[in-house]
Amino acid sequence: MTNEIIQFKNVTKQYDDDPAVLDHVSFEIERGKFYTLLGPSGCGKTTILRLIAGFTEASEGEIYFNGKKINDVPANKRQVNTVFQDYALFPHLNVFENVAFGLRIKKLKNNEIQKKVKEALSFVNLEGYETREIREMSGGQRQRVAIARAIVNEPEVILLDEPLSALDLKLRTEMQYELRELQRRLGITFIFVTHDQEEALAMSDEIFVLNQGKIQQSGTPIDIYDEPINRFVADFIGESNIVEGKMIKDYLVEFVGGQFECVDRGLNPNEPVEIVIRPEDLEITTLERGKLKVRVDSQLFRGVHYEISCYDKDGNEWLVHSTKKADAGNEIGLYFDPEAIHVMRFGESEADF
Ligand code: ATP
Repeated sequence: MTNEIIQFKNVTKQYDDDPAVLDHVSFEIERGKFYTLLGPSGCGKTTILRLIAGFTEASEGEIYFNGKKINDVPANKRQVNTVFQDYALFPHLNVFENVAFGLRIKKLKNNEIQKKVKEALSFVNLEGYETREIREMSGGQRQRVAIARAIVNEPEVILLDEPLSALDLKLRTEMQYELRELQRRLGITFIFVTHDQEEALAMSDEIFVLNQGKIQQSGTPIDIYDEPINRFVADFIGESNIVEGKMIKDYLVEFVGGQFECVDRGLNPNEPVEIVIRPEDLEITTLERGKLKVRVDSQLFRGVHYEISCYDKDGNEWLVHSTKKADAGNEIGLYFDPEAIHVMRFGESEADF
């Protein structure tokens, strides 16, 4: 058995003459990992899930499951189950029957159904809730019933389409931990859709960042956060300071009128670049020690840090996350390490994968 469970080769999805919703998308999904499709509304995340589940067909390209082409395999013959945003539970059935539904369709024996449903409910910590009606369950509990209903079929892949978006913030954070933990215990591949970057960073082994029907970048949360490959990713994942500059030599870049040591990214001298520095990588210091001189415009208290907005002499805004306060109107220095500077080739706003 190879490690690869799903593969998209140059998959395009287009409705009528509209621009392609997915534009020659290729990727591989490995067995047993937690994947997240992340991107703004309308970028094609749900379309990828629907193509994997077999609810819609690719206009072009090939989709493989366990090495076999599945473009023409009907949805009910695919080893995947979907957890929908609204859970799609049956309101007239109790918890047990909701989870048992697929097994009854498959005509499993009653004692087998009892055993499997019990196991699935215990996996999601809902033992004892078998006879409850769906309307008597809270949002978080309904969510767990929907997950139990997906795992009871023992699919190789579970698709989750924004399953946490209807929950309040506290419950949402709890469910993030639960889902992550559940995926580890089950060892099944999860493909999770969200437009919330913090959720994606917290939960995933691998993230695919999508925009306008293309995968902009794929990688671990740390890769994507630390090394965004283009302006879209840098902007979408966390807050970023982005300014234009140019390479001087391998380890030296120029921006806002100064030259700064950076990490070698193999770019050529004089090449125009964009610089990304995360707000938490900037340190407020004296004007003498600072690498950049800025004027403080405003500050917001965010609980764990202050978010301070400053402007340099060229009018670029610099956001700083700091435990120190800085008063509006003051001139301060900003210090950063060479590793904090992420250099991207200018204009790489859309990657071609
Ligand atoms: P959201 O986060 O808002 O759910 P998404 O990234 O999941 O967005 P998709 O649902 O994949 O986006 O939709 C991508 C694009 O495809 C959208 O512009 C949408 O309008 C279009 N689309 C989806 N289904 C159809 C359809 N049946 N006919 C025509 N266009 C469609």
